[in-house]
Amino acid sequence: MIKIVFGFVFMLLLIGCGNPGVDRSNALVVIDAGHGGHDSGAVCAGKCEKDIVLQIASKVAKIFKNKGYQVYLTRGSDHFLTLGERTRIADRKNADLFISIHANAIADRNRFEAVEGVETYFLQKTRDARSQRIAAKENAAVLQGTDSLSKNVIIDSVLNGPKIIESNKLAIDVQRHIMKSLREEYADTKNGGAKPAPFYVLVGASRPSILVEVGYITNTKERHRLFSSEYQKRIAEGIVKGAGHYLDNRKREMGF
Ligand SMILES: [Zn+2]
Repeated sequence: MIKIVFGFVFMLLLIGCGNPGVDRSNALVVIDAGHGGHDSGAVCAGKCEKDIVLQIASKVAKIFKNKGYQVYLTRGSDHFLTLGERTRIADRKNADLFISIHANAIADRNRFEAVEGVETYFLQKTRDARSQRIAAKENAAVLQGTDSLSKNVIIDSVLNGPKIIESNKLAIDVQRHIMKSLREEYADTKNGGAKPAPFYVLVGASRPSILVEVGYITNTKERHRLFSSEYQKRIAEGIVKGAGHYLDNRKREMGF
């Protein structure tokens, strides 16, 4: 009898937990749809980046919610937010992750059909002079009123601190799962990889933060895919699986 009761309780525990040891209820993810309002982002053949990324961000938020995460969208409609406002939302909510969603474009018309693929970026110092200037300019607003020695210490802690290592890990997990999800239906999707870059929107974020470029709006094939709900759904599922994989690993590493 005792055995049966124990067996029954154990079964209830298994049913109740689903995935034992991984509690997702406390993880809060901020999803940022790039651009909005007067800022259309990249525009090609009458299609706007701000619309695609809002559609994908909404799908990402829905899937995260269904899996038991807390989710917050920086914008749920077509309005503009400054870059600072976007990361401040993540700070105010004390988010575990910040994921900014964008679509890519190139300027050279002759290469529109040659350049395609999905890329995930994390913030990191780079030897490239132009990139260094961009990062320094963005950091300046945060660092006003501090002397130059303190500025260097703060800049170093922002650009070399554990958040960068964590953001790098998050970028790798998200990129891998997006590619897996997309290639089940779109086998020819080009993998642009997880890369470092000094994107403005990632500088102020004091948590693991990435920027996903979901495809090139300037490439005819990819533009059509970007506006199809199947492609959007697969991108969204990949982002959620990648972020979930990262969060589960982090919990394990921290001994939860
Ligand atoms: Zn963009």
